[in-house]
Amino acid sequence: MSSEETFDVIVVGAGCLGVASAFYLQKNSPDKRILLIDRTLAAGQANTAMSAAAVRNMFASSTNQLLTDTSIKYFEYVQKELGYDLFFEKTGYLWLLSDEQFNHESVKTWMERMDKSGISYKVYNKKELKEMIPGLNVDFSGDEEAELMNLQEVSYGLFGADCGVLDPTRLVEYYFEEFKKMSHVKPRFGVEVEKLLLEADPKLDLPGEPYVWQKKKVNGVITNKGTLRADVVVLAVGAWTNQLLDPIGIDSMTKGKKRQLFVIHAEDKKELLELLDVKGFNELNCIPFTILPSAGVYFRPQLQERGFWIGCGDKVGRAYKYIQTDEDMVPESAYYENNMYPVLSKYFPAFQSTRPVNSWAGGYNYSPDRIPFVYLECGVLVVNGASGSGIMKADALGRIADAVYRKEAEAELFGGKKIPSSTLSIKDRNVEVESVII
Ligand SMILES: Cc1cc2nc3c(=O)[nH]c(=O)nc-3n(C[C@H](O)[C@H](O)[C@H](O)COP(=O)(O)OP(=O)(O)OC[C@H]3O[C@@H](n4cnc5c(N)ncnc54)[C@H](O)[C@@H]3O)c2cc1C
Repeated sequence: MSSEETFDVIVVGAGCLGVASAFYLQKNSPDKRILLIDRTLAAGQANTAMSAAAVRNMFASSTNQLLTDTSIKYFEYVQKELGYDLFFEKTGYLWLLSDEQFNHESVKTWMERMDKSGISYKVYNKKELKEMIPGLNVDFSGDEEAELMNLQEVSYGLFGADCGVLDPTRLVEYYFEEFKKMSHVKPRFGVEVEKLLLEADPKLDLPGEPYVWQKKKVNGVITNKGTLRADVVVLAVGAWTNQLLDPIGIDSMTKGKKRQLFVIHAEDKKELLELLDVKGFNELNCIPFTILPSAGVYFRPQLQERGFWIGCGDKVGRAYKYIQTDEDMVPESAYYENNMYPVLSKYFPAFQSTRPVNSWAGGYNYSPDRIPFVYLECGVLVVNGASGSGIMKADALGRIADAVYRKEAEAELFGGKKIPSSTLSIKDRNVEVESVII
């Protein structure tokens, strides 16, 4: 590799957002030389691989509804029409809500906005829920422990049948393989960007430039394998964005937070097998992806493994943090035992005495309004801030990144729906705050 190769575009980061962006950029600019790089040894190895890979269109903001609904429909199209199996299973999403939560203004707004956008959902009452999921504890009366733990009793279920789970590795492979078929340049792995190459625009070749009075532009990346130049650098590095943008004085406005998943196998535990195999919600005859009313605890059914992945979208208490070291990615067994397990086993006693057989951790990349960012500034096209739901928005974000690159006023999403390309920018942002985050 020469030390100063030049490309039209360099896409940094081969997670789901990087590969989807690379795919649409190359598809719509077939002559451009687009290089995709990542510091890991293959595509989709970082947070994309750590995710629960659940996909839902049930958001409160119309922007997130649009990003996810069109992406999910595209995933279905890839699987059904193109015959590329993403292991997309329509398990549905089930929010278990207390009376207070269900009658809260924010849930009313959430449902109203879904009605307006044509997102289908169904409301179950307590009796119906108990009939369908006999293993669900809907009665906390007299339970002092539940009271001490601030657990809210389940009164309603909000169910979205069009939601589900998929295999994030297959999703990345799909975009990556399709990108490679069109690309003029072989993607490179084991290439770590150490710095963005910020230069004066135009360069006057003065010592120490760029000066404050000069315009500036990122003209490439400085990597462990040498300097690579490009007209535009697409930055799709998720939870690591600040490490590259902070040093050049661009505020990404995003923050990282550690998230963990713990795997419980049903094995021969009758109650867990019965919970996994509840009927009536979907054609798979399984429990949906389920969110408990309290403490942010949720689980994903894992049908191949005959088990559950348990996660938690905790709020106050856990620090926002750059994901920097490998240690930041180590799951903590005490987090399951002392935090998630007591909550989980109160609502679903079938989990009593269970121990995880596997666990892992990754980083969320939160934006202030929990809506992603896509914008071009000083030669860097940033795609980030997915706020814990980047898999389910990957297709739409890839298309918007491409529209921003081509300076199109609007991006066309799957199914022909359009969105102004500036909607997700920092400067001309036009979004509602998302309240339904996990
Ligand atoms: C526990 C957990 C559960 C989740 N559950 C869900 C879910 O159910 N549904 C959902 O939609 N989302 C979920 N998410 C969020 C989802 O994983 C992310 O939103 C998504 O993966 C973001 O994609 P990305 O491409 O931005 O990030 P990543 O997959 O992290 O990709 C970024 C890439 O950039 C590379 N990189 C970083 N820095 C550099 C550098 N300096 N040089 C070169 N390469 C670099 C990394 O190696 C990495 O491959 C979850 C995340 C976690 C951690």
